[in-house]
Amino acid sequence: MRVVLLGTAAGGGFPRWNCACARCAAARDGKLPTRTPECAAVTGNSRDWWLLNTSPDIRAQLTAASALWPGPRHTPVRGVLLTDGEPDHLAGLAVLREAPGLKTYAAPPVLAALAPARVALDRHAPWEWADSLTEGGFVLSGGLVVTAHPVVGEPPGYVPGRAKDRRWVTAYRIEDLATGGVLVYAPRVSTWTAVLDDLVAAADCVVLDGTHFAAGEAARAGRHLPVSGPVGSLTALTRHPHVRRVYTHLADTNPLLDPASAARAQMSEAGVEVLADGAEFVL
Ligand SMILES: [Zn+2]
Repeated sequence: MRVVLLGTAAGGGFPRWNCACARCAAARDGKLPTRTPECAAVTGNSRDWWLLNTSPDIRAQLTAASALWPGPRHTPVRGVLLTDGEPDHLAGLAVLREAPGLKTYAAPPVLAALAPARVALDRHAPWEWADSLTEGGFVLSGGLVVTAHPVVGEPPGYVPGRAKDRRWVTAYRIEDLATGGVLVYAPRVSTWTAVLDDLVAAADCVVLDGTHFAAGEAARAGRHLPVSGPVGSLTALTRHPHVRRVYTHLADTNPLLDPASAARAQMSEAGVEVLADGAEFVL
């Protein structure tokens, strides 16, 4: 399985267009690497590619990833697997709207929340919308077997009231039938659960929510489990040294954006990676 990290920043990208903090300014000055909003792509056969979320920058991200360029007739992008209903993970659907037959997987409450958008998108080209939590998982063209696993998380802000179905956020386990390689993609995690720990323990690689380095780093930090601290995700990851561990979805408040930071040195020490946009690896 080939995995391409198309984007590795939190929703606003890095630098954020409307922010003049020291890190965003440094990125504008070319002193820190810029990053586009988090999403990724996977394939089992290098012909059928599946997007994991689709960011507002998906056009530029696909343009930068030659493996996903369209062939003589059509795009190798077969569909999208949504981890949740956050606008930053959905926005690219509007860019992809003319792709015929695209198949999008999401959890039932996310599919329901997207009903009006689905009507609009289907007018451009009929798409297939599928339940990611379907019993037993699902198979993607190219030989990838996928199961989605609910993780603790709040509904997106645009959903009114409290829905009964609480399965708003999922992590994906993607296995290549040919190689046996297993990727766990979990870019939004607010609590380290036993389910997540089991998923990581049995994976070859986990791409994990690294939005905030420290608790209290941002006003709404509780939505994302911080990297550091006694209950941070790094402590959990250190229990799984045999797994390739990569942080993604970095907010502009996160010192991991600076390759020279003490935070990044701590990552190197722990054997945990922070990769650049466009990074590709094979499982
Ligand atoms: Zn900033």
